[in-house]
Formats: sequence, structure tokens, C-alpha cells
Amino acid sequence: MSGSSYTYEEPAEKNRSYLQEALNELTKKGLYRQLRRIESAASHRVIMEGREMLMFASNNYLGLANDPRLIRAACQAIEKYGTGSSGSRLTTGNTILHEQLEERLAHFKGTESAIVFNTGYMANIAALTSLVGEGDVIFSDALNHASIIDGCRLSRAQTVIYRHSDILDLEEKLKASSHFRRRLIVTDGVFSMDGNIAPLPDIVSLTERYKAFVMVDDAHATGVLGSSGRGTADHFGLKDKISVQLGTLSKALGAEGGYIAGKKELIDFLLNRARPFIFSTALSPGVMASALEALNIVENEPERRKRLHHSSLYVRQELSRMGFRVLDGETPILAVLIGEAETAVAFSKKLETNGIFAPAIRPPTVPAGSSRIRITVMSTHTDEDIKELIESFGIVGKEMGVINNGRSMV
Ligand SMILES: *Cc1c(COP(=O)(O)O)cnc(C)c1O
Repeated sequence: MSGSSYTYEEPAEKNRSYLQEALNELTKKGLYRQLRRIESAASHRVIMEGREMLMFASNNYLGLANDPRLIRAACQAIEKYGTGSSGSRLTTGNTILHEQLEERLAHFKGTESAIVFNTGYMANIAALTSLVGEGDVIFSDALNHASIIDGCRLSRAQTVIYRHSDILDLEEKLKASSHFRRRLIVTDGVFSMDGNIAPLPDIVSLTERYKAFVMVDDAHATGVLGSSGRGTADHFGLKDKISVQLGTLSKALGAEGGYIAGKKELIDFLLNRARPFIFSTALSPGVMASALEALNIVENEPERRKRLHHSSLYVRQELSRMGFRVLDGETPILAVLIGEAETAVAFSKKLETNGIFAPAIRPPTVPAGSSRIRITVMSTHTDEDIKELIESFGIVGKEMGVINNGRSMV
């Protein structure tokens, strides 16, 4: 350390205990989080901490994350191009695979162009921080994903939260916004903790009346919703009306990364201005190749999507019939309301003893008093798997007094 007088000092005792105090506080409230370890492929049956578990919590909706074709595509790309991309896209990291994937995504989404980001999280930060700024206003659904919330905070635009999926509230707020330069409405396409679909047709008609533009985050809809799996805009037949269509490669597509699809000038603007795109190493070639293969399968094997919807609907109906309070929805995300955080955690632990993994979702992820078990269904779950899930819910629900003779007790 050439003559420097710098020495490392332990943080003051006071600071250290502040961290421990915060952790103790979380533990006391039942909100302390710990990692769980998976020791097998990301399938619908996994080995978790030495035990086989039926997985009902994965975003791998179509079972593609461990599909042999994606694995082969990734291996071949790694053999040919290596494991890392070695630079950001604008320096040395742009390969033919990145360009092929972007072209393919634009084609899939029916837009002029598309751009890939390293994660869905980064895609949200990228869009929100570069498309709006000081003097602009963002209208954001109260239940939007954390990466949208963080993007709003970083954007320096004024952020106005509207009540979840509440069009009247959104319109009230739009009416009071005429002094802003640009108005952006941002919403999840499918809400990740509730499993409902955003009321896009109503939102689109408001944008026309109030000169706003819309951004939709289709993390949970890509590959899942719409007749061809193209997402929420496709589900409602609105693709030309959504200016910024964001999604992930990391959920139903079984790979990694995020994307934005839209007009050519939007994509060109993001390439030039979005800091998460400019200042981060490009995704690796293997990931790009597996995402490309996933798009082939999504387009050529609609039966996966059909099975996914059929199974989701069946689980929804059966749990409701047994007396569980399942939030309304039509997606593979099912929120089964339990109430208090401790009860939800105990419920999830009991499911685990029955070999079912479906976690409790508690504050701050969801509002206090609405702790829940969140189930996600996969197209690869067999009829037997589904039966096992429903039976276990029945046993645990009765044992814990959550249901009684087909009635909800919560
Ligand atoms: C998962 C998710 C993201 C983040 O995507 P990653 O690729 O996991 O970073 C963004 N938005 C929503 C709605 C999500 O569910």
C-alpha cells in the first residue's frame, strides 16, 4: 500500500449491533428470511435439502428450464462461443446470438424491434429511468412488482400510486395531471402475488383520453397468456396500443434475462440511453441460445399452455370448493388467503411435511393480514401431482382450522 496511512477499521460497535437488532426485530415479527437449497434440476419434482418435494412454487411454468432441447442449445452455444460474453453489448459483448434473439422476440411479440437486458429487474429500471424524468408523472398500480417500484424511485419522475386495478381511481388521478410533460401508466400484466390480469383494455382507453402512454410488465404472461403465448396484450388483442412491452426470459421461457419490445425508435433510444444496458456485461451466449430454443417450443407446442391452463383452473375450482379463499384469477398463480403471517408460515411448513413445496407469502411482499400460500402450477405437473396437492391442502386446512365442511374459517 505504497506509503498510504490507510488502515481498515472495524465498524463501530454501535453499527454492528444496529444490524443485529434489525435482524432480531425481523425474527420477532416472523419475517426473517432464509435461503432454501435445491439439489436437483429446476423441475416439478425437486430434491430440496435432501428430500424429494413436489414443487408448486416455480416460475418455470412450461417446464422448459430443464428441457433437454434448451440444455442442448446452451451447450452447443457454449462450445462455439464460450461461457462469458466478455463485454457490454456496445463494446465487445454483442454476438450474433443476441441479435438473433432480439429479432426473434420482435417477431414473437409482433413489434418492430426488441432489446434484451440482463434481468427483468434491470429491464424495468432501464425503461423507467430513461423514458421519463423530472417534470413527468408515472401512474403505478399499487401491487406492481418491486422492480417497477424501484424504477419509479430512480426515474425522478413524480410517482402516483393508483389503487390496484382500479380504473376509476386511475382516471381521477389522470384528470389531476395536466401540468406534467409526459404521463406514463405502468402495470404488471399478471400480478405476481395475486395472479390476476391487469384491466388493459380500460387502461388503454384512458391513455387515449388523457394522452398518456402505457408500459406493461409481462414477466408472468410471456409464454403463458394469449393464444400463442405472446402475453397480456395478445390476450386482449391490444398489441399496437401498448407502447412498451416488457417481459422476462427467466420464467416460462426457462432461461434468463429481460426484454422490451416496441417501435424501432423506442428500442434505439433504450440502446443509447438505458444505463443497465450500457454499463453491464452482455448475457452469456448459452443463455441466449436457450431462450431462442424456448421461443421455438412456445410457438410449436401450444398443448403445454393448454395443459397449464386446464390444470390451474382445476386446482382453483377444487380448492374453492373445499372452502379455501382463493383470489379471483385465471392464471397459473393462485393466492390462497390465510391471514396472519405466523399461520401462513405454519401452513406452508405442514405442506412441506407432506412433501409439497408452496411457500407462505407475508409482509412486506403483501399487505399485513393478507398472508397467503402462493401456488404456481406447471404444465409438467401430472394428474397425480395435482391430486396430491389438493389432498394435502385438505388435510392441512382441516388440521389448522382454516376450512371446515367446505367453509372458510379465515
Ligand atoms: C420476476 C419479475 C421481474 C423480474 O424479472 P427477473 O428476470 O427475475 O429479474 C419483473 N417483474 C415482474 C412482474 C416479475 O414477476
